[in-house]
Amino acid sequence: MTIDSNERYSRQILFSGIGLQGQEHLQRSRVAVVGCGATGSALASLLARSGVGFLRLIDRDFVELSNLQRQVLFDEADAADSLPKALAAARKIRSCNREIQVDDRIADLTPENCAELLGCVDLILDGTDNFETRYLINDYAVASSIPWIYTAAVGSYGLAMNVLPNETACLACIFPDSPTGSVETCDTSGILNSAVNLMASLSATEALKLLLGAKDKLRRTLLSWDVWTNETAEIQAAKPRSGCRCCVGREFTHLEGAGRPHITLCGRNSVQIHEQHRPVDFGELSGKLSPHGTVRHNDFILKFWRDPYELTLFPDGRAIIKGTTDTAVARSLYARFVGS
Ligand SMILES: [Zn+2]
Repeated sequence: MTIDSNERYSRQILFSGIGLQGQEHLQRSRVAVVGCGATGSALASLLARSGVGFLRLIDRDFVELSNLQRQVLFDEADAADSLPKALAAARKIRSCNREIQVDDRIADLTPENCAELLGCVDLILDGTDNFETRYLINDYAVASSIPWIYTAAVGSYGLAMNVLPNETACLACIFPDSPTGSVETCDTSGILNSAVNLMASLSATEALKLLLGAKDKLRRTLLSWDVWTNETAEIQAAKPRSGCRCCVGREFTHLEGAGRPHITLCGRNSVQIHEQHRPVDFGELSGKLSPHGTVRHNDFILKFWRDPYELTLFPDGRAIIKGTTDTAVARSLYARFVGS
C-alpha cells in the first residue's frame, strides 16, 4: 500500500477487526453490486470508501428526480440528464476514491449474462428491487459457490440475510416461491431513506466480514428491522432447508431461464422490453421519431414522449415504457416506434 493509502484508510486500519493486513486484503477483493438504486448506492459507496479494490456496478435503469430522496450517489444534474445509474454511480465513486477499480455495466442481469457479470468476484451484493432478479442471483451464486447478501427495504422496514452456499440457508430455503398477490413495493408503499440506508449499512458490514474471512462474526439469520415501530426480528437461517430445490435439489430453474419473458412489468406503471442485440443509432432514430412526439437523447439514453407514454431506450435496444402496465400495448409501441 502507498503512503496515501495508509492515510486514507488510517481510521479503518486502527479498527482491530481490520488492521493493515485486513486493509490489504480488501484491496485485493472483488465485489459485484447488482442494482444501483438506494441499497446499491449505499453499498457501493461504503465499500468503495472502505477500499474494496474492485467494484462492478450493474444497473438497467436511469436516474430520475424521485430517486434523489434516498439514492445517495446521485444529484440533480444526474436526474436532469437522465444518466444511467451505473454510469452516474461509477463517476461519483471514482471522484471519492481513485485508487480502486470501478467497472460500470448498463445492463439487466439475465441468465445469459450472469456468468460474465458475476463470475470472478468474491461476493455478490443485492441492490435490486425484485424477486425475479434475486432468485437469479441466488441460483447463480449457489451453483457457483459464490457468497451473496440479500438486502431489501420498503416502507419503514428492511430485510437482510447472508447466503453462504452449501453452508447456510439460501433465498429459496426461506422463500420457496416469490410472493404473489399485491406485493408492497417502493412505488406503492413508499420508502424511508433511513430504512434502506440502515439495511445497506448492515449488509456492507457483513460484506467486510465475509471478505476478511471473519466467518465467526457473520450473522446467520434473516434479520428484519422496522425503523418506524422499532420492531426487530430474526429467523434462523444457519442451515439449508432439507427440501430446498436450489441448494439441496440443485435445480437452478431461474438460471436456466425457463420461460423467462422478454417483456416484464417494472415499477407501478411501466413495462420493460428486454430486446438484446439490436444496436440502435440514436441520431437516426431521433430524426425518425421527431414528427411523432418529443424526443431527446444523449450518448447513453434516448427518451421519446408521446402522450400518455414515455419511452426510454438504451443503445442495446432495451426499453422501458412508462404509462402502461399492458405488455401488449408496450410491445406494439416498441414495434411501431423502434422496430419489431
Ligand atoms: Zn436453499
